Amino acid sequence: MVPRLVATTVLLWVSACSVPACGGAEPVPAPAVGPAAQVVVDAPVVTEPEIATGAEEVPEGIAPPPAEDAVPDVRAVPDADGTTGRAIAALTPRACRAELRRLGVPFTASEDERAEGVVAMAVVPTGPVGGVTLEFAGRRALHRIMDCRLLVAIHAWAPVLRAAGVNRIRHLSAFRPGARVASTGQASGHSRGLAFDPRFFDRDGADPLDVLEDWQPRERGAPPCGREPEEGEEPAPLPPPAEGEEAGAILRAMVCEGVRRELFQVVVTPHHDDAHANHVHLEVVPGVDWTWTG
Ligand SMILES: [Zn+2]
Repeated sequence: MVPRLVATTVLLWVSACSVPACGGAEPVPAPAVGPAAQVVVDAPVVTEPEIATGAEEVPEGIAPPPAEDAVPDVRAVPDADGTTGRAIAALTPRACRAELRRLGVPFTASEDERAEGVVAMAVVPTGPVGGVTLEFAGRRALHRIMDCRLLVAIHAWAPVLRAAGVNRIRHLSAFRPGARVASTGQASGHSRGLAFDPRFFDRDGADPLDVLEDWQPRERGAPPCGREPEEGEEPAPLPPPAEGEEAGAILRAMVCEGVRRELFQVVVTPHHDDAHANHVHLEVVPGVDWTWTG
């Protein structure tokens, strides 16, 4: 591509400067184009394949660098196709499976006995979900199993993630048999495969976001998504980030937009306790009309 541009530039210059106006009254002689230059002109042009991207063509070298620190306007992102919001939690196993197929979300049904009778519709994602790959970064393969409804919720969240350039989530676990909430002793959403714990968000052309390093500020007890809105009130927009906390603002924007869209009903962040220092717990809770964030 570069030699072609160079050659084009030379030819244009030759053409433009062959007229008297270019160099003043005196016609400017065209520079000699030697054999070496001819080789550059001829060689790569013919064989170079055209790549149809469908995107607007941006001349090489002029495209802006990836906006690594830019916080996307997540509220402007259109909803994904298919079921969204709290309706996801109400899907029956049969309807949920049909929804995944309709949306083109690749999965296999889990046959692991430990999920039987506990996870309503146990699945393992096998490919990108709405353009975002889910990679399991935990220890036991069992923990990659999730309930179908969680996978639909992640699909509904995907456009928000893509708006931030996220192409892959690396998570620490989804299904954990018998998992309990440490503070209350109650069954955790993990015990039914309805929760997962993302840590890393890999991005197109930018550094990965790591909850452990990048979720800033993380003042203990502070509401992660700002003041709780009154009933029927839209949550206030998140404030612009302080200098050096842009990555944290992007993480927060994505997570809090998932909350605003009512995709997850229990969301636990590094603000809550040390156990959540390196990940965000995102859980689908069927049959409730509330959301808890902390
Ligand atoms: Zn969790």
